[in-house]
Amino acid sequence: MIVLMKKTATQADVDRVVAVLKEHGLGAHLSVGAQATLIGVLGDKSRLGGQDLTLLDGVESCVPILHSYKLASRDMTPEGRVVTVGGVAIGGKQLAIMAGPCAVESEAQIMAAAEGVKAAGAQFLRGGAYKPRTSPYAFQGLEDEGYRLLRKAGDAFGLRVVSEVVGVEQVETAAQYCDMFQIGARNMQNFRLLKAVGRSGVPVLLKRGIASTIEEWLDAAEYIMSEGNGNVVLCERGIRTFETATRNTLDVSAAPVVKERSCLPIIIDPSHAAGKAAYVAPLALAGVAAGADGLIVEVHPDPKTAVSDAAQQLTIPAFAALQKQVAAVAAAVGRE
Ligand code: PEP
Ligand code: MN
Repeated sequence: MIVLMKKTATQADVDRVVAVLKEHGLGAHLSVGAQATLIGVLGDKSRLGGQDLTLLDGVESCVPILHSYKLASRDMTPEGRVVTVGGVAIGGKQLAIMAGPCAVESEAQIMAAAEGVKAAGAQFLRGGAYKPRTSPYAFQGLEDEGYRLLRKAGDAFGLRVVSEVVGVEQVETAAQYCDMFQIGARNMQNFRLLKAVGRSGVPVLLKRGIASTIEEWLDAAEYIMSEGNGNVVLCERGIRTFETATRNTLDVSAAPVVKERSCLPIIIDPSHAAGKAAYVAPLALAGVAAGADGLIVEVHPDPKTAVSDAAQQLTIPAFAALQKQVAAVAAAVGRE
């Protein structure tokens, strides 16, 4: 439920509503807008019993939230959230560009990738240290050494670093190296992991599950936010459909749907949707045109030698060329 305060409501009126909620064991999420203040009620509103909040001074009305997710909803934060990661804003006017290899493979590889994506204008370096592979015989990642090399490369070239955590047991170590955690598609509904990254307070890039609806995805975001971590960025990376021409089907409509239903920024991963380097640029541009707040693109200094996702990784020159096209589309839709 949202308590909408009158335009004339005073700070004391707002404080009183928050205090009444607290007396009933409920939390409050304040959204101070230009017009009026909204107070989101957190918890089971049946705890209010017979208490009618509309009778309190300064209260205009009480509006139910129809979604199961609250903090992630647009109703509670109509102005939208901007998530700041190491000083870089995601969800503002400027697009956030994350790029780098599928997996950290060696120091030389991640350094070359970092140098290339930085020169092309990326703000974030991505690279998997723990890889959730379909086959147990496939390369599983350099693990903690991967986090260390990623951090070294990020620091060397002034890039924020984002990497996946696949288990609760990695969260503590990963927090020492990563500016942002990635929750992969396969773990979108690993609720213990979601709660653990929520408690960590580290910004989280939450990928959409391979066969998850947008509502399930926003409920997953709520798990992180309900632990006190509002720094969540959603990532559409393609969903499983009957189509086999691409690895997954990029749901471009997720961008406007998420913008309508949620306050969270959303970025697009064209690489895992496409599965093939030739399709990455058109999908990336479609995502930006549809209103996404940024991109995460797999880029490798020598894709044909990549130990994972070789077919979909862009070369550094191809990524630099894409960045020029992204800038043109961004300008056409009022972004930078
Ligand atoms: C990745 O980013 O390399 C990855 C494994 O992504 P996803 O979880 O979307 O498959
Ligand atoms: Mn990959």
